[in-house]
Amino acid sequence: MFKSSNCTINSSDGVLYITFPIFEKTGKVKHCFSTKIGGVSEGRYSQMNLSYTNGDDEDRVTENFRRICRCIDVCPDSIVKSHQTHTVNIMDVESPDQVIPPDIDGLITNKKGITLCSSYADCVPLLFCDPKKNVIASSHSGWRGTVGEIGRLTVEKMARDYGCDPGDILAVIGPAICQKCYEVDNLVIDKLKKIDYLDLSNAVKPQPNGHYLLDLKEVCRQELLKAGVSDSQILVSDLCTCCNSDFLHSHRATGGKRGNLCALIALA
Ligand SMILES: [Zn+2]
Repeated sequence: MFKSSNCTINSSDGVLYITFPIFEKTGKVKHCFSTKIGGVSEGRYSQMNLSYTNGDDEDRVTENFRRICRCIDVCPDSIVKSHQTHTVNIMDVESPDQVIPPDIDGLITNKKGITLCSSYADCVPLLFCDPKKNVIASSHSGWRGTVGEIGRLTVEKMARDYGCDPGDILAVIGPAICQKCYEVDNLVIDKLKKIDYLDLSNAVKPQPNGHYLLDLKEVCRQELLKAGVSDSQILVSDLCTCCNSDFLHSHRATGGKRGNLCALIALA
């Protein structure tokens, strides 16, 4: 069984899912990050795969969504999914029927009855809640999104479109690949070095082979601080998808033969 010192691992009717204390204590949001455990998919997608676009059987994915939604008491029909393509495009969501165009990696809403959903297998989930303005957001920050500062852009859009004060925002940097597991080449590092406020001294460790170990979560944290989110209001999950690949879908751990996890968040 996997363990976390700062996330809550829950079990309901055989479904394992992760929640975040910083959100739980507000009573304002229903949320979770899924695991592999408790779904009906098979083979590489086993057991809980939450993507319709990775080749899995559609009926099985629907049943998986039904099960994970039941865990946090949201309706599957309330789900609005981003069509993630590693962009920094972020969209405001007004209704559960809203058509989300391709190339949207971040979603924001202030409406009840909408469950924001984004999909993961190593990339960094960024979840936001402004408990004063009742605004939530979910953004997908792989290395491209992180180079594009999608976390900072999400906070800025929450402020611009909904009047959020960044100092009120609670943020979760969810389960994602850890520095030990995430080797990248200088293409990525050179792009990060162009972001002048980043301190990469601990986030980037040069390796003897000329590559680097990158702490993507730490870079995301610095981007949120830059946007004005308070350090004490950011939870950085200690869970690595790749270290825990028996329980979490990991692209790196499987060479891409895997299903998808998802982050769900809705106003309570
Ligand atoms: Zn790891």
